[in-house]
Amino acid sequence: MISNTMAIRPSLKRSVAAGTLAEVLRCYQCKKCSSGCPVSFSMEILPHQAMRMIQLEAAGELLAANTAWVCSSCQTCSTRCPNDIDIAGVMDELRQLAATGRDTAETRTRLFHRLFLDEIRRYGRVHELGMIGKYKLLSGQWLSDIPMGIGMLLKGKLRILPRRIRGLRQLRTLFAKRTDS
Ligand code: SF4
Ligand code: SF4
Repeated sequence: MISNTMAIRPSLKRSVAAGTLAEVLRCYQCKKCSSGCPVSFSMEILPHQAMRMIQLEAAGELLAANTAWVCSSCQTCSTRCPNDIDIAGVMDELRQLAATGRDTAETRTRLFHRLFLDEIRRYGRVHELGMIGKYKLLSGQWLSDIPMGIGMLLKGKLRILPRRIRGLRQLRTLFAKRTDS
């Protein structure tokens, strides 16, 4: 049950499981999660700060940050937490909320993940050239990484045309089930 002393933002309350929220309330900011996180150097908000922001209902800022998307689900934080908080599970739920929440701005990180999943849904694998083109078009990041892209093209690392995998129908069934649930 969610503590009566804490009113979580409605969107967060709907989307993050009550059990998870109860776990987050146990966080006492020892920072063991953040100090062990292998990708914390690239996070805008560190895992222990994310726990605090959930406690303080600062969900909007947290969902707009790249933290949950940068998380690699390695479980290190959950293993290190002295309060048995499943921080990696919280990150999963934040990703889900950020991906579906109407009140969440489309950040570049979120756009990247959405386009990535669109490619998987369409072809069963990522067509890098197509995805990069769409990402640049929608993000306005036209000039970044161009030398690297040209180098990869010249070395044959980027396919011009997409290729579908076998078993694409089964994969799409999984996507459809996920959408329905
Ligand atoms: S699960 Fe995510 S937040 Fe936790 S240590 Fe791994 S990368 Fe960092
Ligand atoms: S390790 Fe656990 S108790 Fe410590 S800051 Fe992280 S979530 Fe909070």
